Amino acid sequence: MSQSESPYDKSNPFPATLLKKYDLNGEGSAKETFHAEISLEGSGLSYEAGDALAVVPLNAPDLVAAFLESSGLDGSATVSLGDESSMTFKEALEAKFDLRVVTKVVLTKYAKAAGLEELLEKCADREWVADYAWGRDWADVVADYPAPGLSPQDFVGFLRPLAARLYSIASSILAHPNEVHLTVGTVRYEAHGRAKKGVCSTFISDMWDEGATAGVYFHHNKNFKLPEDGSLPIIMVGPGTGIAPFRAFVEERVANGATGKNWLFFGDQHEATDYLYKSEWDAYLEAGHLERVDVAFSRDQAEKIYVQDRMRENAAEIWKWIDAGGYFYVCGDASRMAKDVHQALIDIAAEHGDMSPEDATAYIKQMQKEKRYGRDVY
Ligand SMILES: Cc1cc2nc3c(=O)[nH]c(=O)nc-3n(C[C@H](O)[C@H](O)[C@H](O)COP(=O)(O)OP(=O)(O)OC[C@H]3O[C@@H](n4cnc5c(N)ncnc54)[C@H](O)[C@@H]3O)c2cc1C
Repeated sequence: MSQSESPYDKSNPFPATLLKKYDLNGEGSAKETFHAEISLEGSGLSYEAGDALAVVPLNAPDLVAAFLESSGLDGSATVSLGDESSMTFKEALEAKFDLRVVTKVVLTKYAKAAGLEELLEKCADREWVADYAWGRDWADVVADYPAPGLSPQDFVGFLRPLAARLYSIASSILAHPNEVHLTVGTVRYEAHGRAKKGVCSTFISDMWDEGATAGVYFHHNKNFKLPEDGSLPIIMVGPGTGIAPFRAFVEERVANGATGKNWLFFGDQHEATDYLYKSEWDAYLEAGHLERVDVAFSRDQAEKIYVQDRMRENAAEIWKWIDAGGYFYVCGDASRMAKDVHQALIDIAAEHGDMSPEDATAYIKQMQKEKRYGRDVY
């Protein structure tokens, strides 16, 4: 069966079996990052290094229970969904609706349906909603603004559908036939008196048992691909879970016998507990498949050190690789890290490529256009 003949896609996710999962962080780490190995056996699906996998989560039972308790609604009531199917309200809350994200649109619909005039007025103020919604979920909303007149079917009418989350693929299909691996950072925090969890990351860490299935589909990313010419060097910057696609890239280059040099920058909090896939990188270094690994562990010394600092320390060498036709990739946190890495790259081009800041910016932009500078940031 060819990929295009596979019956599975976004509208019909493949029920994939989890083969194996384990926490990559050592004891005492502030982080929890799961390596998950998922079977594609029987799906007819495949992927390329640089793609992402969407995982369809279920809501955590404690969140559903908190919502039912706060709302006082009957979880065993039957509700009908838009597609003519029906199920119990509890089942619908577990699998179909987003109980975590409180948006202006849904909060407004709730206030209108419940006749909550004061809340409706507040909903007109975008800033108030953003402030109120931060760290709150729908169990908080129904506790803060009770709506005893609403039925389970009313909630089904306005809650948002539960969305799949994307994860950068951490494996090469050449190295792991019929498998796809992920590197998932678990999101947990305390807010408004309750322990809160990221829906999909904790679905993977806490609820998806080995041997059980969950819906998955692929999200192809044509802008984040290895060079076709395997002799070209590549530089990869992937702190934290940003490391995921680079495990795939190196596996793929090794499997293909690509001769181009590979240079990895990795960072996290502590070397002893947070150096993700360290034994694999050590083995690649030893075998000559990785030319260099430069690490930045921010909390192992008084002064914080990040991957962009390591880039600046190695500016001349980075420029040599880029000037030789090398490809540059960054993956991970979009809000700060990727911006700092982008600026470091421009500064390196300006200093070592002897360019004005404007020309260096244009040079990096051109690299991006030519897909020699790939960004997988979130
Ligand atoms: C292309 C792409 C690739 C990705 N690759 C990876 C990957 O390889 N590995 C990975 O782990 N993730 C990856 N992600 C992120 C992933 O898709 C999810 O966003 C992430 O796992 C969190 O989802 P969740 O369902 O667990 O959390 P959600 O239920 O979506 O909750 C996360 C939200 O919780 C809120 N929040 C978080 N902390 C706090 C706090 N302290 N106080 C109050 N509110 C808070 C924030 O609003 C945050 O947006 C990727 C994203 C994209 C778009």
